[in-house]
Order: sequence, then structure tokens, then C-alpha cells
Amino acid sequence: MTTYLIVGNGVAGDAAAEAIRKHDPEGKIIVFSRESRPFYYVPALPSFLAGDKGADQIILHPQSWYEQRRIDLRLATRVTRIAAAEQWVETDQGERFPYDRLLLATGGNSFVPPMKGADSPGVFTLRTLADADRIKQAAAGARTAVLIGGGLLGLEAGNGLRKLGLKVTVVEFFPRLLPRQMDAAGAAILTRQLEDMGFTFHLGAKTQEIAAGPAGLTINLESGEQLKGDLVLISAGVRPDLSLAQALGLEIDKGVKVDDTMKTSRDGIYAAGDLIEHRGRFYGIWPAAKAQGAVAGAVMAGQAAKYEGTLPSNVLKVVGIDLVAAGDIDAEGKLTAIVHLDEAKKTYRKLVIQDNFLVGAILLGDIRGSAEIQAAIQKKRNLSHLRDELAQADFDFGRLR
Ligand SMILES: Cc1cc2nc3c(=O)[nH]c(=O)nc-3n(C[C@H](O)[C@H](O)[C@H](O)COP(=O)(O)OP(=O)(O)OC[C@H]3O[C@@H](n4cnc5c(N)ncnc54)[C@H](O)[C@@H]3O)c2cc1C
Repeated sequence: MTTYLIVGNGVAGDAAAEAIRKHDPEGKIIVFSRESRPFYYVPALPSFLAGDKGADQIILHPQSWYEQRRIDLRLATRVTRIAAAEQWVETDQGERFPYDRLLLATGGNSFVPPMKGADSPGVFTLRTLADADRIKQAAAGARTAVLIGGGLLGLEAGNGLRKLGLKVTVVEFFPRLLPRQMDAAGAAILTRQLEDMGFTFHLGAKTQEIAAGPAGLTINLESGEQLKGDLVLISAGVRPDLSLAQALGLEIDKGVKVDDTMKTSRDGIYAAGDLIEHRGRFYGIWPAAKAQGAVAGAVMAGQAAKYEGTLPSNVLKVVGIDLVAAGDIDAEGKLTAIVHLDEAKKTYRKLVIQDNFLVGAILLGDIRGSAEIQAAIQKKRNLSHLRDELAQADFDFGRLR
């Protein structure tokens, strides 16, 4: 009987456990999580923060799911050490577990840019349910929040705080919001929409220091401007949690390097999710982590499976704003783009074309056709025969099928 150990109960670890059990009904599977609650839907944390959803509504697999599949889930248990030569792991409770195959699915941690005062009380990051609990508690006695980082997750979390009644000011280092999903024209429309909802923005602004005082927090910008907030939420991206991988001496660049079978540079050790880099790419998105976990699990259980990449696609989940960004959005304007901008309707559509292929898109305000557009990007359809028609405002995207 094979013993499989999985470190991390996020989507990558969970998908792997499910795949292992599918292909190996007998094997022993143990999943470790340093968190106290079982697998939940991380993208719903902003809704949890806003009070729209309770913890029970975002937990995807309760304990019973693991019991039915004979998966031994060890919550509130951190793996602290791995002995690769002897093939065992050790937990913070001092227990040792031998393994035949090991999966590292430890995900990532919120990145906090170096700045004075980032560890002050009242300064938070959002990555886990426990983080969201803490932010909610602080928000209960707060009136104002400063959000450092105007990316997708930051805006969604900021919207959660706004829904709790806080006045939210956003500081973004780039001169536009959503620097990874938007170009300047689309971001300008989005900024106005969010301002109408009550957000205030400081774009192209860098935080120098957060100072805690009796009257709350003061955020000093490099420009000399000062902002006041009862709480600060830093949302500046994610970094792989490499502590275990580094101690193992695994090959690492942007993340732990894996091949198409999710194998690391050490035999018997696999990795998946926000921890890894695949073909030089770090994803940091849910569907990629899930697909990678599923492949890792299948391979660990002896199947021939391969991960070949995921089309990056993002949806902004702020009620009242429809936004989908997929593939290469060509923010620098280096490729050909078919653009439709309607200031009155606050809609923006950009289709990015390279050599007659659709390689990316931004849909803001009107997301009809988003499924067909994403499929056309993924399947690399030659669209030369539709080039002129794609420019029409009312083009029927059903024709991309
Ligand atoms: C607020 C927020 C919103 C998001 N929204 C979206 C979205 O809309 N769409 C999208 O595609 N993606 C979104 N993401 C990203 C997505 O959630 C991640 O890509 C995904 O969760 C990665 O899964 P993972 O399993 O690799 O890692 P994680 O979800 O980070 O899970 C890793 C788990 O391993 C545990 N762990 C780590 N080290 C140890 C250890 N030593 N011992 C035991 N346990 C350990 C961690 O506690 C954690 O539970 C969002 C992320 C956040 C934070």
C-alpha cells in the first residue's frame, strides 16, 4: 500500500487528494493543514468580509467529505520539517509521518512590500479565513480604511470593507487600477465607476511609511501627502510559501520548478498550486492550482497525466461592475487591437490580435460573449475571415464557436 502525504489543504492539495483516491482506492492519504477549517473557496473571502456569506457557505468540503473518501485530514497541523532521504515529514506537534509520495501544496503568502510600520496593529493582509476574521473584527470599530494596492483582490476586498460601511481610499503604485488586467483606457472607465460607488484613489502613489498613533494610522506617501485610516489593508500580491521547499534544496525560481507531471527536482516529491512555477510561469489563480493538483494526484497514483498550462482569466467580482480580462491584454499596445469604447454606456471592449489569432481580451461593462472569446483564445482559432466583422459593436460572438 502506498502512503501519500499532502502538505496544504487549499485547492491544489484538495484536487490532488481527490485524484489520488480516484486512481488508488487502497492507498493511505494524509492531508496536513495549518488552518483550523477545512478546504474553502478563497475567492469568496471578500464576500465573507462583506458579510454576504458566512464561513459555512464558503467551506467546499466539510470533514465528512474526507471521511467518506478515507482521507485523513489533519487540521491545525503545520508540517515543519521534511527528511527527503529518509522519506518522512514532521509536524509542529512533533509527530513523524513516513511517505512514499509527497505533494507540496503550501500555496502562497500575501506579499508585504518593505515599508516602515507595516507590522503595526491595525495593518492587515487577506489570504485566509482567519485573516478575514481579524479584518472583520477591526472593521467593526472603524470608519475609514486605506487599501494599499489597487489590483483585483485589493479592489474586491476594499469593496467588502465599503459594504461594511467604511470609507475606502486606495493607494496604487501604478498610474492605473488593475495593472495586470487593464490597459489605461479601460482602467480610466473603471476608476470613474468605482469613484461613483464611493472609493477614493491615489494612483501612481507609493507608500513610504505607516505610522500608528492614538488617533489611528497615518499613511505617509512618497509625495509628502498623508492619509488617515482606522485600518490599513495591504494587497500587493502573493509570494509562494517556499520555506519547506528551500530547506529541501528544490530547484526554485519564481516558484518551485516542476515539469509537466508536477514533479519537482527531487524524486518522489511533487508540487502544485501557488507554490510553483510551470514552464517559467507563475499563475496565482484558482483554476490553475486546481488543474495542477489534479495532475499531481493522478501522476502520484501512477497515471500518465500532464499539465500543459491554463489560460489566465480574471473576473472582477464587484456587484454593479462587469469586468472580464483574459489572455494577453497588451497593456503596452504592442499588438493589434480592435477597440470599442462607449463613454456614455461606460463600456470598453478590447480584442487583442496577433497573426490572425485572438490572444487576449478586456470586456468592461458588457461581458456578453466572454465565454466564446475565452474559448477562441484557448483553442487558438484563426479569425482572419472575421477580422472586419469583429470591429462591429454588435458582433455576434456566437460565431466564434
Ligand atoms: C482574497 C483572494 C481572492 C482571490 N480571488 C481569486 C479569483 O477570483 N479567481 C482566481 O482564480 N483566484 C483567486 N485568488 C487566488 C486563489 O485563491 C489561489 O490561486 C488559490 O487559492 C491557490 O491555491 P493553493 O492550493 O495553491 O494555495 P492556498 O489556497 O494558499 O492553500 C495552501 C494551504 O496550505 C497551507 N499550508 C501552508 N504551509 C503549510 C505547512 N507547512 N503545513 C500545513 N499547511 C500548510 C496553508 O495554510 C493553506 O491552507 C484569490 C486569492 C485571494 C487571497
